[in-house]
Amino acid sequence: MRIILFALLLLGITPLHADAKGKKISKIVLDAGHGGRDGGARGQFSYEKDLTLAVALRVGKMIQDSMKDVKVYYTRTSDVYPSLVERHEVANRAEADLFVSIHVNATAGRTERYQAGTRRVKKGKRYVTVPVYKTVHHKETSTSGTETYVLGLHRNSQKENAIGEYGDNITEEQGMLNENDPQTAIIISQYSQAFLGRSVSLAGKIQEQFALQGRRDLGVKQKGLEVLAGSVMPGVLVEIGFINNPSEEAYLNSETGQAAVATAIFKGIQAYKWDSER
Ligand SMILES: [Zn+2]
Repeated sequence: MRIILFALLLLGITPLHADAKGKKISKIVLDAGHGGRDGGARGQFSYEKDLTLAVALRVGKMIQDSMKDVKVYYTRTSDVYPSLVERHEVANRAEADLFVSIHVNATAGRTERYQAGTRRVKKGKRYVTVPVYKTVHHKETSTSGTETYVLGLHRNSQKENAIGEYGDNITEEQGMLNENDPQTAIIISQYSQAFLGRSVSLAGKIQEQFALQGRRDLGVKQKGLEVLAGSVMPGVLVEIGFINNPSEEAYLNSETGQAAVATAIFKGIQAYKWDSER
């Protein structure tokens, strides 16, 4: 039912008009991922939900301090959990010009089975030596860097980009659309016509800022993310680093790290705004 609502909203949009230049950016929605009972990904000592909120509030403050013509809307400003629907309702009610969702990545961890030794077992009348296996779970990763998602079908991007580098085992964000459902495919394609170009542009500008700071650039990718599909405006989902990489977790929890991450997102938005208002 919700999906049908998105379709109706999107049908009202003329792609040509939507891509026109000279568009004022005056309302921006910042969505701190997860919250409340939903902690998101977990590191050794921190939760995704706290990092996304800290960064969202910093980005919002930077926007308010330096873009007097922009109003910032938050999907949450404290440790609560708004549903995905509630998140894009904030954006749609405000008729916002941009939707920026902030998340922290985690790899799913890997399980390794290794031979720990041998033991003797009786087989028939003889004793034979058999290997003994143990299983260990590694939650830590050395994967690092930032990536920014736009709404799309992610089957084409999987081949082309860096997902393969960490073995396709990234923890899925909640609220993935079923890309095999024809109706969903139509909605994604309508959204794409209206907003994909601008979403990719914003995503690229944010990634560029991270790269300038020396962060590893995992690129701009497409995924069927419901939180983006429901918001009728260009939108991106930024993954600001890997919480199960101990050095990135420390960085994302530090004053320096949070200020840098917020600055990258802010500068990306600023560049997009200049570009769009030319
Ligand atoms: Zn997340």
